[in-house]
Amino acid sequence: MLKLHSMDRSRIADSNINKIIQILYKHRELTKHDIAAISHLSIPTVTNNLSKLIEDGLVTESGVAESTGGRKPVLVKLVPDSRFSLGVDISPLKVRIILTNLFTEIRAEAEFELDGLKDMTKIMNKIKTYILDMLEKNNIKDWQLTGVGFSIPGTVNKEKMILEMAPNLGVKNIDFHDFSDVFDYPIYIENEANAAAYGESILGSLPKEKSNSIYISITEGLGVGIIMNGELYKGSNHRAGEFGHMRIGSAEKECQCGRVGCWELYGSEKALLTAYNEVSKHNVQDIHEFFQKYEEKEAAACNTLDSYLEYLARGIQNIILGLDPKYIVIGGKISEYKHVLLPLMRKKVFTSNTFYNEIETKLLFSDLNKNASLLGASLIPLKNLLYSNMEIRKWR
Ligand SMILES: [Zn+2]
Repeated sequence: MLKLHSMDRSRIADSNINKIIQILYKHRELTKHDIAAISHLSIPTVTNNLSKLIEDGLVTESGVAESTGGRKPVLVKLVPDSRFSLGVDISPLKVRIILTNLFTEIRAEAEFELDGLKDMTKIMNKIKTYILDMLEKNNIKDWQLTGVGFSIPGTVNKEKMILEMAPNLGVKNIDFHDFSDVFDYPIYIENEANAAAYGESILGSLPKEKSNSIYISITEGLGVGIIMNGELYKGSNHRAGEFGHMRIGSAEKECQCGRVGCWELYGSEKALLTAYNEVSKHNVQDIHEFFQKYEEKEAAACNTLDSYLEYLARGIQNIILGLDPKYIVIGGKISEYKHVLLPLMRKKVFTSNTFYNEIETKLLFSDLNKNASLLGASLIPLKNLLYSNMEIRKWR
């Protein structure tokens, strides 16, 4: 099995194999002549590489196409459940894990509460227990896994595998090399908003074009992923997009990052619920419960949402002024209420300004809702297999 695993990786590095996988991923079902025509590879090269892929179980013969004279040509396609990937989202309150197949279809999910646990080694070991259980229940072997992608709310240097700072998790300078022995497969780390932006670009609501886009991830904190000309923009020190900590409000509000008046203190899901609970004297901990009160037209809920959206819009306006994006996508659990939020937000963001308008800058809500960062994280290990370079490309 291990032999197959290592062979698998060397084959993935082979650009012709990679090209064929990508073509099959995009077109789903083709003959070898189709593949040769699209890839500009010779028929013998395609045939030879297809045999290797069939031997590895990644590709299968799926029937025959109509004949253009002579024998009917054989169709081939990728086997979606031949390889898998894991996405793990670590948030301040809980850890969520998904198992996805080659087509990013979710095959299994699990989650556990952190209950104040901040020790990253203990968290990682617990994640491993859940992963092993998930693999066993789904009868998946180690070599079928392309790896684990972690989505973490903090500044992440993914090349050095270091989580530099995660104020909301209460940890800093965590070297993920320390956990490479915990898992028997490659691990990758990414900032939560960047993972979500990546997921959104490949699978979500962003249009199929290389654009300048902003993804605003509203969770217990608030993070921003920046996509420039179709690629994630990281900045010189991998810290780009920390708009959640730009000052937007009063000096009296202190943030866990050490600054005051940070946007996430006004624009996060936690900020919305805290503000509502202060006014209403309720103890609502769930966004769905809040929106139920809003839809019942409860005054406290309506007023809180109005002032929350005012702050949210203020931050978005600053980002538009600075970066001039074509699309702004708001994601997180809150995006399930886009029917309520979109008209209100459009009004707040686009009224009374002379710099931009609704036609040039489109405001969208995520289709992936709370799963954007998880799906994005699970796509990272698959990237070498499915995408030819670091570029974000739409295959669907
Ligand atoms: Zn802050």
